[in-house]
Amino acid sequence: MIAKRNTIQKQIVFDVLTKMHNHPSAGMVYEAVNAEYPNISRATVFRILAEAADEGRILRLKLNDSTDRYDTTTFHHHHVVCRECGHVADVDIDFDEKKLLDRAVGHEDFCVEKSHIEFVGICSKCRNKIKNL
Ligand SMILES: [Zn+2]
Ligand SMILES: [Zn+2]
Repeated sequence: MIAKRNTIQKQIVFDVLTKMHNHPSAGMVYEAVNAEYPNISRATVFRILAEAADEGRILRLKLNDSTDRYDTTTFHHHHVVCRECGHVADVDIDFDEKKLLDRAVGHEDFCVEKSHIEFVGICSKCRNKIKNL
């Protein structure tokens, strides 16, 4: 019975995460799950997300030194991050990342395996808030 319950809980957490579209932290996912399914514990939600990220079924993002955020879009893509409120959105731009990597290769005799590019700034909501101060 426990295995079955785990499967159902996993499905619920995935469904909630998929609907969120805002690259939520584990805490944000827990709050959304808790609103509908108060019997699923915080620890369970955190564990399900961590396991799914380890298995590569979702992405764990380490952005702008904030807490880990989760993303159901698992292919390689980039993000804009608001340094005020932590809002995260996907960036859809085309550039030759391979070329960038090639140029980094050879520096300090490093074998470069991957890169991490993120765009940090202030979102429109926060800009408006600042303007209205
Ligand atoms: Zn913001
Ligand atoms: Zn994303």
